[in-house]
Amino acid sequence: VSTSCGIIPLFARLPIRGRLIEGYVYSDEEQARNPGVHKHRATDWEAASESDRLVRAVADGYGFASYHFLRNMPVKGIFGEGDGYGLGNFVQVFHPEQNVLTIYAHLDGIPKHIPFLPPEETEKGLIPWILRADGLEQLRMGQVIRQGEVLGRIGCSGLRGSIEWRHPIADALKSWDRSHLHLEFYRRLKNQWVSFDPFDISGKLQEYFDGERLRLGPNHVWLLGEEGQLTCAY
Ligand SMILES: [Zn+2]
Repeated sequence: VSTSCGIIPLFARLPIRGRLIEGYVYSDEEQARNPGVHKHRATDWEAASESDRLVRAVADGYGFASYHFLRNMPVKGIFGEGDGYGLGNFVQVFHPEQNVLTIYAHLDGIPKHIPFLPPEETEKGLIPWILRADGLEQLRMGQVIRQGEVLGRIGCSGLRGSIEWRHPIADALKSWDRSHLHLEFYRRLKNQWVSFDPFDISGKLQEYFDGERLRLGPNHVWLLGEEGQLTCAY
């Protein structure tokens, strides 16, 4: 495998065909819309077209699924009481070979063969235990996932919905935001999961582009095309 996809060639597989719409730090526009929200610690992707909504595992691993939703505690949400946000339906894959964890969020449902662990209902909202799991043994108990395997479809679950929650196989929660894939990467450092940007920019959306040209850090995992589309030539 060529290294043209970055220093982790095993991630050569793309999670979707899509276009970057939000960087690792929220854009000024997003921060203005959601006061107090600064760190995104993820990248957001819009599907290239209606027929490109399948989300795929970037590498082999072990998968779990759950639902995540936080009440909008400090502010009474503009859509009324109970307004909040979260990952919604998500699949989490532990990649032991790379010591990396990936999270694919806002899916419109969860494939039936991936074990779904119901979230804990707390004052703050619906909190899945797998996001807090430290033990690698626990993570290895997930469903065996193969690179390129379909993990779901791009959706809008968890985006500005109500706290009311049903099993994720049912319809996604109502949403006022457009559908996109929220993608998180964590690497294992000193027994902790530390978030990182697969493009090694860790900035706002505009910082990924330098005029017509594309910027990438030296440790990027994939390439970005001129229009911000996810590409990987190898
Ligand atoms: Zn996001």
